Amino acid sequence: TKAAGGNEKAAVQSYFNTQGFERWSKIYSESDEVSKVQKDIRDGHAQTVDKVLALLDSSGGVKGISICDAGCGTGSLAIPLALRGAAVSASDISQAMAGESRSRYEAELAKGAAAPSTAPTFEASDLESLKGQWDTVACLDVLIHYDQNNVDGMIRHLASLADKQLILSFAPKTLYYSALKRVGELFGGKNKATRAYLHAEADIEAALNKAGFDVVHKDLTATSFYFSRLFQAKRKGGR
Ligand code: SAM
Repeated sequence: TKAAGGNEKAAVQSYFNTQGFERWSKIYSESDEVSKVQKDIRDGHAQTVDKVLALLDSSGGVKGISICDAGCGTGSLAIPLALRGAAVSASDISQAMAGESRSRYEAELAKGAAAPSTAPTFEASDLESLKGQWDTVACLDVLIHYDQNNVDGMIRHLASLADKQLILSFAPKTLYYSALKRVGELFGGKNKATRAYLHAEADIEAALNKAGFDVVHKDLTATSFYFSRLFQAKRKGGR
């Protein structure tokens, strides 16, 4: 229901502005101050990002392509895309994350990366409030924070923003039993503010189909503590 979704979202937002920000900005960095588990998650996540970059490269590259990165986190995907010449609109429900992604982009320029002709934008916004049209919409490792009910609406909205393709990653329910323990590692312990949801591949695909998209490519990244299904979906018959 809407109310439940709203509460969940507020909890997720608050988490990613506080402890979640501390935890994830460290995981998504090169800092040595991470546990073995966090390092494993970092490596798995880097594989997902690399796969998305490779997918986009193999379909003609991103130069001049408009890309929305919804729930951009610290900019792991948005920054390399921007530096490769995509017109990137990055956003995150967490102000702290959106600010961090902007700082990291600026740090890349300061380190000597060539500024792209179209500067990326980094804004604090929940993905449900995004308005606009992009060639490609990406949303990586965000759906894990929401139940299927909410996810259906999120996919519907993301699809409405995408002219050509949607790239999503989520924690697959097919690995439920083996993964349950690991999800506990990820979100358990001291933090009771958020929980992790696994999604059935068929449910995600059905939501995409309903929104007018066909899944054209599937991938799975699984390390010891990170597992993420990657879907590339294209608008049926183009638009
Ligand atoms: N997509 C990034 C990546 O793969 O590097 C970050 C993944 S991180 C596990 C999840 C991110 O989703 C957090 O930065 C969080 O603030 C953001 N998020 C959660 N719910 C969101 C929502 N409804 N709209 C936009 N961002 C959201």
